[in-house]
Amino acid sequence: MQKGNISVQTENIFPIIKQFLYSDQEIFLRELVSNAVDATSKLKTLGARGEVGEVGNTTIEIKLDKEAKTLTISDKGIGLTSEEMERYLNQVAFSSAQEFIEKYKDDANIIGHFGLGFYSAFMVATKVEVHSLSYKEGSEGYVWTCEGDPSYSIEARAKESRGTDVILHVSEDAEEYLEEAKIAELLEKYCKFLPVEIKFGTKTETTYEGEGEDKEEIKTEVDNIINNPSPLWKKQPSELTDEDYKAFYNELYPFSQPPLFWIHLNIDYPFNLTGVLYFPKVANSVEVQKNKIQLYSNQVYVTDEVSAIVPEFLTLLHGVIDSPDIPLNVSRSYLQSDRNVKKITNYITKKVAEKLHDMFKTDRKDFEDKWKEMGTFVKYGMLTEEKFHDRAIKFSLLKNEASEHFTLEEYKEKIAANQTDKHDKLVCIYTNDTASHDSYIQSAKSYGYDVLEMDTIIDTHHMQHLEAKDGKITFVRVDSDTVDNLVQKDEKKESVLSEEEQKQVEELFKANITDIAAKVELKALSPEDQPVMITRPEFMRRMKEMSALQGNAFGDFPDSYNVVVNSNHALIADKVLKAGAEEQGTVVKHLYDLALLNQGMLKGAALTEFINKSLNLLK
Ligand code: ADP
Repeated sequence: MQKGNISVQTENIFPIIKQFLYSDQEIFLRELVSNAVDATSKLKTLGARGEVGEVGNTTIEIKLDKEAKTLTISDKGIGLTSEEMERYLNQVAFSSAQEFIEKYKDDANIIGHFGLGFYSAFMVATKVEVHSLSYKEGSEGYVWTCEGDPSYSIEARAKESRGTDVILHVSEDAEEYLEEAKIAELLEKYCKFLPVEIKFGTKTETTYEGEGEDKEEIKTEVDNIINNPSPLWKKQPSELTDEDYKAFYNELYPFSQPPLFWIHLNIDYPFNLTGVLYFPKVANSVEVQKNKIQLYSNQVYVTDEVSAIVPEFLTLLHGVIDSPDIPLNVSRSYLQSDRNVKKITNYITKKVAEKLHDMFKTDRKDFEDKWKEMGTFVKYGMLTEEKFHDRAIKFSLLKNEASEHFTLEEYKEKIAANQTDKHDKLVCIYTNDTASHDSYIQSAKSYGYDVLEMDTIIDTHHMQHLEAKDGKITFVRVDSDTVDNLVQKDEKKESVLSEEEQKQVEELFKANITDIAAKVELKALSPEDQPVMITRPEFMRRMKEMSALQGNAFGDFPDSYNVVVNSNHALIADKVLKAGAEEQGTVVKHLYDLALLNQGMLKGAALTEFINKSLNLLK
């Protein structure tokens, strides 16, 4: 028997392993199973080269023994000779574990991603035995034992078959790892897609034989294989059907709605990355579930915290990214500045944009149908990622109230003739609420104007963004001005009233409209326009909205609006001017109330009073 000390200056490493890593304790299982997978993969490689006799069954097995208080991970991989035990388990593994802990003991977070390899076993075990038989011809079995202090022993002990059993004697404070349910949960989380079959106990499978009366239920005990060794993202897209992608989505997120579309990532150079990103069904909701992308490294689950790797807007996507080229043993801030990671980020952004553009080109109708669900995501991406904007501007859509869709270029062409103002700007007229803006929309249409629907939470930002990027367009809400002035042109309509009469009307309205937020002005509009209208200047309204969105960041904006009196409307000339003093007041107030009602601003007691007044008029 051989005995020794692992290293003199590292006597305190075990307490550190236990203390600092406690929060990520559970990763020990992933580390040990990954080692078993590695040993198996190495054996398969040798087998393929004809360097081992018979590879045979390579299933890895996880076993619990509650009485003995052990958890065993067994593989049929290459195994270890006693020299290799000495070298890999003591020197190599130990020195890297020690170096790692010294470097990162203040940053326990990243340890979960990296893992301490073999030594993480000591987070949960008081004693670890590694019983192994190497594949090498003439090898004999050895067992390496370490009791969680720096001393270890290696002694010969026969082992029947090739491979390694790592036996953990679970410590008292970690007995949850002797529970079947706990181990099952961890295997499901970390090992679900490892490339070698992993068995954990058995399960009963029910099959039927015979028909009708004779139908017989047959129960058989079969191995409980907890993983899917060849997950979809590792396959070639050409081999896969839509159903395969949907089924895999269901495997990842049981009980969710089917995804809208997906993107298969597959690149070898200059970095290696595979994966599938799914676009979930999200309607007009801001409460999209983030952090649904799982990061793997060679099919080993690492984390679902991918914000350093994919741009923020893409965290709305679901699915899997698998890349051995993402450095996992570094802190988040380092990750974000890593050149490889930057390339990966750009690649993913580009792929998503390309996929969307492709969908747009191949089936525009289908793309438009999906726009409602994708729009928020695309707009968010355009706002936050310059590169994405440049690609997305070609397929990002605007929808008008007649439900037609346009790209920005198409739309500019559509409105150029009729909606270019005197400053040569293209004026895009929009509504955020077709129902309440109906009368404004109808007047805009009577001028031959097109009205866009901008009704999602992100649209205010989107419009601002397009204005800034494009430089030639401006957005105005359909109620921001009188219709003749939505697209400012240098035409002035003549008023049918004399200057004297206009002054009189203006005074009358000013005297009767006492709301401080209201600014009365007289305008010569078409006789068909409303007699009195309320408009809400675009700039002030937007400032107020922006401020509200940011919790009144710029202070409480006053709610100001314009009361525009149409001096060319028959009611003004015939009724207001010609009535007696008392009736004048009543008519002015009534016209004003109608204007408020039209803008959805007449509410509560004022509305009740208006209704009563109107009823009296009918008497
Ligand atoms: P890493 O896996 O990162 O190299 P570990 O500390 O996990 O580091 O393991 C150290 C070494 O021990 C491995 O590189 C491998 O050579 C050996 N080893 C660990 N587990 C096994 C196993 N189940 N079968 C064969 N060799 C193993």
